[in-house]
Amino acid sequence: MTESGIDLSKTYDALVIGSGAAGGMAAHVLTSRGLQVLMLEAGKKLPIEQELRSMEWPYNNPYRGSLPPNHHSLTYNEYTIRNPPYGAGFEKSKHLHSYVGNTDYAKNIVVDERENPFTGTSYAWVRARCLGGKTNIWGRLALRLSDYDFKAKSRDGYGEDWPIRYSDLAPYYDKVDLYLGITGVKENLPYLPDSIFQRPTKLNCAEVTLKQGLQKMGRVLTQYRAGVTSDGLQHNKYRSRCFGRGACERKGGCDIHAAFDSPTGLIYPAMDTGHLTLRTNAVVREVSVDPQTGKASGVHFIDSQTMKDYTARAKVVIVAASTLESARLLLNSKSRLHPNGLANSSGHVGHNFCEHVMGPSVVGQAKDLVGKASTLDDGRPGGFYLTRFRNLTEKHPKFIRGYGFEGGSGSRMFPERTDRSGFGASFKDEIRKDHGSYISMGAFGEVLARYENYVDLDPVVKDKWGVPALRFHYKFGDNEHRMAEDMAETAQEMFEASGFKIVDITRRVLTEGWSIHELGTARMGNDPKTSVLNEFQQSHDVKNLFVVDGSAFVNASCQNPTWTIMALCWRSCDYLASELGKGNL
Ligand SMILES: Cc1cc2nc3c(=O)[nH]c(=O)nc-3n(C[C@H](O)[C@H](O)[C@H](O)COP(=O)(O)OP(=O)(O)OC[C@H]3O[C@@H](n4cnc5c(N)ncnc54)[C@H](O)[C@@H]3O)c2cc1C
Ligand code: SF4
Repeated sequence: MTESGIDLSKTYDALVIGSGAAGGMAAHVLTSRGLQVLMLEAGKKLPIEQELRSMEWPYNNPYRGSLPPNHHSLTYNEYTIRNPPYGAGFEKSKHLHSYVGNTDYAKNIVVDERENPFTGTSYAWVRARCLGGKTNIWGRLALRLSDYDFKAKSRDGYGEDWPIRYSDLAPYYDKVDLYLGITGVKENLPYLPDSIFQRPTKLNCAEVTLKQGLQKMGRVLTQYRAGVTSDGLQHNKYRSRCFGRGACERKGGCDIHAAFDSPTGLIYPAMDTGHLTLRTNAVVREVSVDPQTGKASGVHFIDSQTMKDYTARAKVVIVAASTLESARLLLNSKSRLHPNGLANSSGHVGHNFCEHVMGPSVVGQAKDLVGKASTLDDGRPGGFYLTRFRNLTEKHPKFIRGYGFEGGSGSRMFPERTDRSGFGASFKDEIRKDHGSYISMGAFGEVLARYENYVDLDPVVKDKWGVPALRFHYKFGDNEHRMAEDMAETAQEMFEASGFKIVDITRRVLTEGWSIHELGTARMGNDPKTSVLNEFQQSHDVKNLFVVDGSAFVNASCQNPTWTIMALCWRSCDYLASELGKGNL
């Protein structure tokens, strides 16, 4: 398998922008349908196993896994006090990263904030510009949406329904499960459909206690549904089964690729078909348009190293640069026929931007585990997921929609709460006694899609390659703040009901963006006046343009989005290939 040379004189069947979950899936589906596909990726192809070093012990790392001195990653307080573009005031550090870039393992995967500025309201925007994008370090929680999400407006009157139902997407979720592998346990919940699971991980002692406590309250805790192959995948030679080495704890990253990442899961197998040409270091700055027909004709891109400008051509253009970058690209693709940006006759590109609100969390202690021998609990790709329970059968008086919790317990590589005060032998003894007795969880809640929450282009600031920067106009609203209050209250209530000693409760809401689940900037719908894409993520305005990432989401739900991004993309690319075959594009 090699990275083939690009032929700029050729018109490819399809051109895919971006190589993350969405771009990778587009490449897989289209090449398997026999199309000649060109993929352009802005970032480098990193020697990813050397970056992740999943088997490295902390004591073998000169910084114990933390950042070298010339790097800095933004903290919660810095996001709160300073305004974007984040750069000024950090001159001592040669490289400046988002909060996710705070380990020696992730520092080269996330972007340098100075090269990639943005402006406007505070936002913890996490970007990974490299082959595979954010899938190299994602947290792996792989959940399905249900008709509680797709038809949420029909249930509570807010926003818009999606133009599809769960039954439209279910066969594609199944395909994603089988092709990529997912672990978990069937629960038969109408609001969180089951996947086709491989071998699940095991809950440990405190997690089982919590599960039993919740059962009495009619709430459900299930094993982490991880986008990880636990049984192995016979059809994929690039990925091993999970050996439970626990390295995913340190911001994702699995150097044997048991955890899904787009290169080994999708792109390398697509290259093996002989139908995919990949070019990295290719920053697409604009989708080009045929001035006669108004249809997409290809793209203009810049070589990120030489700064030279190129044009590539294709019959169909597929934008998969991630929700916010895709909006930026569409807005930047202005022409006589598309003066407000491409696919934007509705004026909705960049709007209805939504995600998940995070922050409220709880730490508890299972008193009966204090002083017990350590168990080997970090050899799992995840702990537990506590499913949504608000606004399912009853209506909450203070907010609409819902939230779930991610959490875990047990003896991990690093003992917890070593940051509390103390020193000497007695302190060490206390840490040892408590090791393994803590349990914690944090919430992810739906942020309502609102037209007023949007991004546009900054008229002045540009990135290192001269492309206009994105400007944020985005804040959480009252519904999110009321929901966050409830998250902290229910977290405490559930831990107390399970008999845990409460060690810490966090009520503060983290900076917008923290969830890294940005969605909705080119939403799908049946009405071209109020939506950008149709149900197949095809532009209402430009028939041979598809936007196949999280941009198409109509609402955020409270479930993590990546598995849905890939199922939608698979469905859309199946449709695309058929339509192209019929000469309809
Ligand atoms: C630490 C972390 C934890 C996460 N945990 C979870 C989780 O548990 N569950 C979950 O569902 N999701 C999780 N996510 C989110 C998940 O990673 C994203 O939903 C997913 O990667 C989105 O896929 P994408 O293809 O839209 O974007 P990306 O994966 O970001 O890929 C986009 C690609 O497009 C490229 N690109 C951008 N602009 C251009 C351009 N102009 N020209 C060419 N290429 C361009 C980028 O370089 C990038 O490679 C997590 C993310 C992170 C970082
Ligand atoms: S626990 Fe499994 S998925 Fe996670 S890093 Fe280890 S082998 Fe990879």
